[in-house]
Parts: sequence; C-alpha cells; structure tokens
Amino acid sequence: MPQRLTAANVAASSTWTDPDGVRRPAGDVHAWVPGKNQTVCGLALSRSSLARFPHVAWHEALPESGPHADAVQHVCPRCRAALRPRPDGVDRRAFRRP
Ligand SMILES: [Zn+2]
Repeated sequence: MPQRLTAANVAASSTWTDPDGVRRPAGDVHAWVPGKNQTVCGLALSRSSLARFPHVAWHEALPESGPHADAVQHVCPRCRAALRPRPDGVDRRAFRRP
C-alpha cells in the first residue's frame, strides 16, 4: 500500500516546455517525493523512463485543479489516491467551522 501523503512533486512520461522556458509534465503523470528513486505508487523512475519535476507540485499537474496540466493525458490513479485527503470524518471534524 502506498503511504498516504499530503504533498508531493511530479514524475511524468513526457515533457514539454512552456512559453517561459520551464519544463512541464506531459503524458502519464505520477506523484513523486524528492529524494526518492521511485514514484509514490512504487514505479522505479529509471526503469520506467519517468522524468522528475521537482519544481512542479502534484496538485499543479492535475487536470481539474492544476495550472500546468495542459499536456497531461493520464493521472496515475494509485498516486492520486495516495495524495487524496482522508475520506473519513477525522480531518473534517478538525476543520469544521464553529
Ligand atoms: Zn503512480
């Protein structure tokens, strides 16, 4: 089981360069924690030919919420699940409005 995380960066199968000259993720994207040699779902970066994007936050690469998801074609469901906030009520109670 992948560890549940609150933040991560991005590893992707392809790259494009935006008009400002910054590398952005494209193709298949996975969550990646800097310093690790594998994605959150357990793929080895070297064996899977995934490029690392330490300057792109995970939520920035999600098509529904990210400003850098234009070229993203597929978001790994296992990485997405690992980064999702807890669905149970624990966190919701903590953040409940008075
Ligand atoms: Zn993944």
